[in-house]
Amino acid sequence: MKLSWKQGLSVWAATTSCLLLAVWLRYYLTDNGFIKEPNQTYDYIVVGAGTSGCVLAAKLAASDSKILVIEAGGEPPWYSWIPIVAPILQGSEQYDWRFRTVPQKFAAGALHGNQAFWPQGKMVGGSGQMNFLIHATGSPSDYDSWKVPGWDSHTMKKALDRLTCWTKGIVKPFVARPSFLLDGESEMCSAPVLAENSTSCSENAQHFQCPSAAVKLQRVNATEKPLLKAFLDAGRACGHSVSEMDRWSDTGSFMASHNTIEGKAGQRWSTYQSHLMPAMKHYSNLHVLTKSSVTKLVWRRNKVIGIQYLDADGRIKHVKAGKEVLLSAGTIKTTQILQQSGIGPPHVLEPLDIPMKAELPVGENLQDHLQIPLFVELNASVSLNIVKMLHPRQFWNYMVHGKGALATSGIEGIATLTKKREDGKPSKPYGMLILFNMGSINADVYTSVANIKKEAFHRWFPKSSSLSQEGFVLISICLHPRSRGHIRITSPDPMQPPEIDPAYLSNDYDVQCSIDTIKEGVELLNTDSFRALGARVHWPTFPECGSKQGIDNQRYLECLVRMAALTMYHPAGTATMGHKDNPDAVVDPELRVRGVNGLRVVDASVLPRLPSGPPNSVLVAMAERAADFIINKH
Ligand SMILES: Cc1cc2nc3c(=O)[nH]c(=O)nc-3n(C[C@H](O)[C@H](O)[C@H](O)COP(=O)(O)OP(=O)(O)OC[C@H]3O[C@@H](n4cnc5c(N)ncnc54)[C@H](O)[C@@H]3O)c2cc1C
Repeated sequence: MKLSWKQGLSVWAATTSCLLLAVWLRYYLTDNGFIKEPNQTYDYIVVGAGTSGCVLAAKLAASDSKILVIEAGGEPPWYSWIPIVAPILQGSEQYDWRFRTVPQKFAAGALHGNQAFWPQGKMVGGSGQMNFLIHATGSPSDYDSWKVPGWDSHTMKKALDRLTCWTKGIVKPFVARPSFLLDGESEMCSAPVLAENSTSCSENAQHFQCPSAAVKLQRVNATEKPLLKAFLDAGRACGHSVSEMDRWSDTGSFMASHNTIEGKAGQRWSTYQSHLMPAMKHYSNLHVLTKSSVTKLVWRRNKVIGIQYLDADGRIKHVKAGKEVLLSAGTIKTTQILQQSGIGPPHVLEPLDIPMKAELPVGENLQDHLQIPLFVELNASVSLNIVKMLHPRQFWNYMVHGKGALATSGIEGIATLTKKREDGKPSKPYGMLILFNMGSINADVYTSVANIKKEAFHRWFPKSSSLSQEGFVLISICLHPRSRGHIRITSPDPMQPPEIDPAYLSNDYDVQCSIDTIKEGVELLNTDSFRALGARVHWPTFPECGSKQGIDNQRYLECLVRMAALTMYHPAGTATMGHKDNPDAVVDPELRVRGVNGLRVVDASVLPRLPSGPPNSVLVAMAERAADFIINKH
């Protein structure tokens, strides 16, 4: 292939910039606290350095206890800090667990073998190091619906508002509020609360200078992003409540996305960056061991007293926990470790001759959000595409100012949708729309990471071969799916992946809920703001769904959902938290495994029901609360 001089210059600039960026990030992110050999005993062992584990470990380290964090993966690659490249980590043997589901009966028609691929982060930072950076706090009613004492909407709101920040070794309460805009810029800084009624971040910043370790969010700015503006205007025209702030309410809202990106350098802001890294630099009582996979819990009668793991050279080793083992290995691996250690249902453990330690419904109640992406073509130059992203100016802008296309995740707008009930009042949010600003979609990358059949992909995204295509992806999500599946080990060998069956769309409610969300999304395109951009939705032409595509054909829409629903990457619920009398609960409200001493679970597996949005920030708040329970107990 012959390149023009302009393309050659772009490739040269891109390569040079990437190299410089790699050197700079390597220098910037060098840290200490990683160990090669652990001690024999620690007070607490945190299994997994993902979203939850990083928060938990950092908070516990401040309590003077001896902490070991043990992580199966290694340090994340330098490019994982650049927001736009998140999808590149999917499918990587080194950084992704690359789980896959069993063939789905009612869904995944466009995927090879009807099997969904489930990427999950295998590195320090966990899935939070490869996710799409959306910050969401869910709706207040989500927490009340859990019916778990101590986890009501009021307590969770407080926990979500008070994100912790480390400064000079002291834990300070921070509040993330829209009014805390730094110098009127689009960065929102979780600022220290000096006085109850203080309202400005800059005012606080004079005292605290908003320390770099604060939880940071970048709000997409509608005055700079015409596509987001069109989305918000369309929401308004369709009678929805609209806000540029992150307004996660029970009454639904169209809003600008707030993404976990550090605004100055334009970097991903995972809990590795916000919590673990500063704690590792500060506390010598915090050890982090990487490339070591926990295989089982070690018992003395009904008490967990340590862990067994395989080290980087594949040798079996043990470490003791004087106080507790805390499982934060993510929904799939936490479930596997519990079952492998004798905590689970008899029908799973008995056939494998695993001695039963606690009979609990571990692995049941598996749930996930499904997304249905539809491509919307535009005839105005307002979207991101490969040609624009590869322009040398973008690299320069990113390197020098931490801004531009590389400093975004592409997610610009979010809407939570409600319905009018019979009494005229709105329902609780049932669906979500995401505006993903991406005009050109790489067929090779997308089909391989999501397991999509090539033929189906081209019927779904017909203009994908054009690198300069204008358009966006409108993502529809049913927020509270009713389908429930399971995770089960099928071998006593801990290195064998478990059987994962989310039973996608096995409950018809989920299909109709997805259709209703799609319909609301497509309605937006008929408003003046989108018409002015020449918006035109591409209905996929799957032969299975007949020749009459479109919004008015219920049979087509049902078929579309069953063909084109993909994971939104939020598996949860398999070690569900509940009241002590709830037979479905695996952990109690303080996240202790029922009937077992010395063991807690702190990760997405304890969510009784998914929140109304992506769960990462909810898990941060949960891990912080869990650390408080633990510190108060000991
Ligand atoms: C591609 C993708 C996009 C997403 N986008 C968003 C988004 O935009 N917004 C949002 O809110 N959420 C998003 N999510 C979901 C969110 O990131 C996860 O829900 C969250 O990170 C889960 O946190 P966790 O602590 O439960 O597990 P994880 O963050 O997955 O951490 C588990 C850690 O445990 C380690 N581990 C596993 N097994 C072992 C073992 N045996 N021994 C030692 N260590 C082990 C893993 O390697 C990993 O580091 C996304 C997820 C993915 C995968």
